[in-house]
Amino acid sequence: MPGTGTWLEGALAGTTGGGGHNGRVFSPSVENLVAQLTRLPGVGQRTAQRLAFHILQRPEGEALALAAALTEVKERVRFCNECGNLTEEETCAICLDTRRDHTTICVVEQPVDVVSLERTHEYRGLYHVLGGALSPIDGVDPSDLRIDELMHRVERNGVTEVVLATNPTMTGEATAAYLADRLRTRVRVTRLASGLPVGGDLEYADEVTLGRALSGRREM
Ligand SMILES: [Zn+2]
Repeated sequence: MPGTGTWLEGALAGTTGGGGHNGRVFSPSVENLVAQLTRLPGVGQRTAQRLAFHILQRPEGEALALAAALTEVKERVRFCNECGNLTEEETCAICLDTRRDHTTICVVEQPVDVVSLERTHEYRGLYHVLGGALSPIDGVDPSDLRIDELMHRVERNGVTEVVLATNPTMTGEATAAYLADRLRTRVRVTRLASGLPVGGDLEYADEVTLGRALSGRREM
């Protein structure tokens, strides 16, 4: 491989000399990498360009390791056939853990929410990952989420409580309300309390948060 300067220049080269028709600034392969990176959440055009240049400047082995890691997760990782969490087996470690409370299921939108809840060490039950939240505007209706699977689990497995831990957003609340309607005749349904951030002042809380904190107050 030629000196870094040369190949990097080559990679970045627009149409060499002459200043680029079609407004093309990068070579097609760099442009493709940038385009792929902008698909990632939170990555805009500028960040994608920075990442692309970073990848180009690192040794080839590093870039290939990244590519291999991407291929490997897509080959190996799948959704748990019970809860929908990510796993490399048929059934995830949480569902298989007999020390956990199998009568309680906590419903979340995404696998990443399981990670957040596990980090609290406060919850010892099972999970159910919906794969999103109901949103008629975006065309997400109940059949697009793992709701039937949840109903089956509740009926089949002696579940006594379902904790609704969808996000406190418009779609998350709508999803929780929908699930509560379907579940409350069969099982105890609870919702995560939402309230004031720890370390925050009442003065700075918005009225929705403060209102929720008030309605979710508890004995002490
Ligand atoms: Zn599972």
